[in-house]
Amino acid sequence: MRPDVLVVGGGCAGLSAATALAERGARVRLLEARAVLGGRARSWTDPRTGEVEDNGRHLVMACYESFLRMARRTGGADALRFQPRAEVVLLREGGGRTAFRPEEMPGRAGLLSGLVRLRGFPLRAVPGAGAALREAREECAALDGSSAAAWLSRHGQDAAAREALWDPLVLATVNLSPETAPARLVASVLRRALLAGEGGSRIGFADRGLDAAIAGPAEIHLRGRGGEVLRRRKVESIELDGRGRFVAARCRSGERHEAGALVLAVPHREAGALVPPSAAPPTAPAWRDLGESPIVSVRLRLDRPTGAPEMAGLVRSPVHWVFRGRERGAGGPERLALVTSAADGLAGRGRDEIVALAVSEIRRFLPLARGARVVGALVLKERRATPRFTPENLAARPGPGTGSPNLVLAGDWTDTGLPATLEGAALSGERAAAALG
Ligand SMILES: Cc1cc2nc3c(=O)[nH]c(=O)nc-3n(C[C@H](O)[C@H](O)[C@H](O)COP(=O)(O)OP(=O)(O)OC[C@H]3O[C@@H](n4cnc5c(N)ncnc54)[C@H](O)[C@@H]3O)c2cc1C
Repeated sequence: MRPDVLVVGGGCAGLSAATALAERGARVRLLEARAVLGGRARSWTDPRTGEVEDNGRHLVMACYESFLRMARRTGGADALRFQPRAEVVLLREGGGRTAFRPEEMPGRAGLLSGLVRLRGFPLRAVPGAGAALREAREECAALDGSSAAAWLSRHGQDAAAREALWDPLVLATVNLSPETAPARLVASVLRRALLAGEGGSRIGFADRGLDAAIAGPAEIHLRGRGGEVLRRRKVESIELDGRGRFVAARCRSGERHEAGALVLAVPHREAGALVPPSAAPPTAPAWRDLGESPIVSVRLRLDRPTGAPEMAGLVRSPVHWVFRGRERGAGGPERLALVTSAADGLAGRGRDEIVALAVSEIRRFLPLARGARVVGALVLKERRATPRFTPENLAARPGPGTGSPNLVLAGDWTDTGLPATLEGAALSGERAAAALG
């Protein structure tokens, strides 16, 4: 039967749009090019170990409103576990650790008191941090056109303040160095995650893998409402009628799918190639300039515990985060995931070199790891992890609408005002669904 809406792309944005539409009673058909759903947030079971592997450890935050709305809609929320209170542990060489706890008081006061107690954050930088937070909260025009580094430096955030807080925060949330990241996107993270209070910066983990929290329950939700999910369907062209309305999408296999409307939820390069020129928004020629920023992850299996916290930032290291595996047994083997954001330098290196770096960093930061033997290693390079937003290219992010009244766009790269995250993707999906009326 002809669906009401065709959704192309089974990542978080497409799943958010599809489940929102199905919830409203629309008959939805979702086409995904790959054999698996989830896009850049997917998981699979490793046949050698039987363990669930994510394509990269993903964190969510309690302030992820649209993402959590989708997760509650589909039941995926049951597979998320949140910290009881917000805390980010930072490790220093030799094993010293400190924790950033931003929420002992609500809003800006809580954040500033967290800074005062954060070891390594210079007291002289606290008043400037306060001024920066005020600008972030008030969405000041001063943020426009500025990189995070330039904005922070205007507020007296020196090298020590950047190292202790700002650089890890920007890398983790925008996947770009502060020199590249737009100040406006960093401000949007601060506003939502850290300044809104109410526990918004508590971090959530998908302990059973991303699929259990995102694509798995979304597919069940869709099918339960009469929807269809078709894998290995790479859409190659979109047909409009003489009045510019969407009619059908054609797949590489030759299949043609007609529907009443289309949500195109694919990354920016693919969208640029698929939207017919007559429907393309004015910014379309600039979509390819949104670029890509990589993330490199290394999974290490060690023969004994290393004393690693569940999650910690590594201060002054080319490896930014370490995550301890879920199934730590007393005295038994341990799994660690090491993540480098904005990994342009690392993505071009060979597997053995990356593993050697990860092992030497772990030994530098976790003294107990020095005696541990590495019994397995896996390197995952996501070269197109997120777009490379800059202060100059932000204006190229389109809204959901196109020149065709029944063809809308979704994806983390569209203009959500947020960095490219699961929340941005889910919000874009909700907006695309709403734009279809
Ligand atoms: C390693 C890594 C770590 C990350 N960590 C975090 C994190 O901790 N927290 C966070 O919030 N975000 C994180 N992100 C970002 C987050 O994963 C993305 O922002 C989000 O998943 C993007 O979703 P999307 O639906 O917009 O795009 P995608 O997930 O890319 O989905 C697009 C889908 O469209 C499909 N497709 C493409 N072309 C076609 C076609 N022609 N026909 C049919 N289908 C097509 C693709 O196969 C894909 O499934 C991370 C990303 C990576 C890679």
